[in-house]
Amino acid sequence: MKELSWKPRVRGDVYCSPACGRGCTRAEYQHADKMADKLVIQLGVGWRARVWENLGWHYEAKAGEWSVYPSGDRMFLASNGQFGAAADTPAEAVAAARAAVIEAAKKLMDSARALP
Ligand SMILES: [Zn+2]
Repeated sequence: MKELSWKPRVRGDVYCSPACGRGCTRAEYQHADKMADKLVIQLGVGWRARVWENLGWHYEAKAGEWSVYPSGDRMFLASNGQFGAAADTPAEAVAAARAAVIEAAKKLMDSARALP
């Protein structure tokens, strides 16, 4: 069986790939693209936008292994796959995730120091 393409195709207002098949629109893509740029601007230097399609258009900001993306209407998640945190703003989510990593690192260091 041939794999379906993830390259979006234009049909009127539709901007959707055969592999997705949802019938995503150009307006949805443009919204995700705009929101991705806004997110990157909010986060500052070092972040880049990523927009992708999978039963709708989605976006996130990436920096190395870290991603920041919307969760619902008013929350943002920052995650590296191991640690994550949610907050009202992208910057707060990043700060909370950073604090979670630092806290875990401290616990690991304490554990290492406790070794006889
Ligand atoms: Zn689609």
